[in-house]
Amino acid sequence: MVINETLSTPVIGEYDAIVVGAGPAGCGAAIALGRSGMKTLLIEKHNCLGGAWTTGFMNPFFDHENKSGVVHELVSDLKAVDQFGGFRNISFNYEFMKYFLEQKMADAHVEVLYNTTFSRTLVEGNRVYGIVAENIGGRFAAVAKMVVDCTGDGNVAASAGCPFELGVDGDYKECQAMTLMFLVGNIPEKYKDGMMIYEKLNAAYQKGGKTIPFVLPVMIPVPNSHFGVVQFTHMYEYNPLSAKDITAAIVEGRSQLIDAFTFLKKYDEEFSELELISSAGMLGVRESRRIIGEYRLSLDDILSGAKFDDAVAIVTFNVDFHTKSNKGQHCYDVQPYNVPMRALIPKGYEGIVVAGRCISGSREAMASYRVTGDCAQMGENAGYYIAQALKQNKNIRDIRLDLQLTV
Ligand SMILES: Cc1cc2nc3c(=O)[nH]c(=O)nc-3n(C[C@H](O)[C@H](O)[C@H](O)COP(=O)(O)OP(=O)(O)OC[C@H]3O[C@@H](n4cnc5c(N)ncnc54)[C@H](O)[C@@H]3O)c2cc1C
Repeated sequence: MVINETLSTPVIGEYDAIVVGAGPAGCGAAIALGRSGMKTLLIEKHNCLGGAWTTGFMNPFFDHENKSGVVHELVSDLKAVDQFGGFRNISFNYEFMKYFLEQKMADAHVEVLYNTTFSRTLVEGNRVYGIVAENIGGRFAAVAKMVVDCTGDGNVAASAGCPFELGVDGDYKECQAMTLMFLVGNIPEKYKDGMMIYEKLNAAYQKGGKTIPFVLPVMIPVPNSHFGVVQFTHMYEYNPLSAKDITAAIVEGRSQLIDAFTFLKKYDEEFSELELISSAGMLGVRESRRIIGEYRLSLDDILSGAKFDDAVAIVTFNVDFHTKSNKGQHCYDVQPYNVPMRALIPKGYEGIVVAGRCISGSREAMASYRVTGDCAQMGENAGYYIAQALKQNKNIRDIRLDLQLTV
């Protein structure tokens, strides 16, 4: 059955750019656009900035080393208040992360709307010209010269009709495992710099009479505290593009984390005082849409250290697959490579750029550039590319910027 609706949707404003999604990529993009004098709207469905960094409890800050721009600023800000360090010396306090991002957004005069969910893209032919979204005030539209899809899942681009890849040849069951992160308190002092907890957790699981779902669990304390996040739950073969599957994955994740906490506290004396504080407000989805762009980053590119004259990020992070076959991870090194701006431009479309884990690349490439330092850097530099294209009234494909990617 289909219901045909007739809707009168108010247009709340005209912008130079609208950024959808305030994760690392969206924050980078919005800050750069705002700093470049672009009238910018940033919408986010949760109640803070940061996406996986904050709502998702993802920690530590991978591939931030030697990066310039917003990444460097954030690390400096966090260090200045003693909220960076701990696990591998690169974990951070996510409440301070939210705060610093909000400060930067305000300084850049970006208009931010929380609790606002993107509904559909306004598109005419192959040209995107705005979005429709919903929040407490109802349904609204906003128009822009450029829309930046930083939803992680490529929702905006897909709604515009941009082609995309998913899993292996469209099979979502091959996508990497999903994880619901959780926060615990009273971590024993000796583990305040973090620990791999497989042996302890596996022993506790066996005593609890269950089989462990992931063999490389890690406890990542927040610096200067006795609380930290746990990367443990692993849910396989769920469809990242189905609300029903996402719900089922969250339910399974919550059940796994309750087991993990209960068994560890009950059967391992060292963790007898452990406290369960919260599960993350957002499911950790490692892999979903990869939009097909003007350039597609290949396995060869990342293994050979490809460089491009339209580079928007430098990636050094290894390929990291969370695989169902070994209930663990399959990792291998890359040569430091560039992400070209063309991988952020949906092939054949105008008025839209994507940034973050949904850009154009092979599964292997995505398994490397998906970490937060890289997503934030490509988002920020995409913002500078967009600003230049708008200022010069040129197609973004014809812009070349001499960006300083490292400090
Ligand atoms: C379990 C797990 C652990 C990870 N661990 C690490 C780690 O330790 N270190 C690291 O650096 N990286 C880690 N990563 C990778 C990293 O977190 C993500 O790949 C990265 O955050 C992607 O950035 P993004 O900006 O593209 O998307 P996200 O961080 O996912 O941000 C997307 C934003 O868009 C918003 N959004 C989505 N849809 C809509 C909509 N319809 N309307 C409005 N807003 C919307 C979301 O709420 C979110 O805020 C991990 C990933 C997972 C899943």
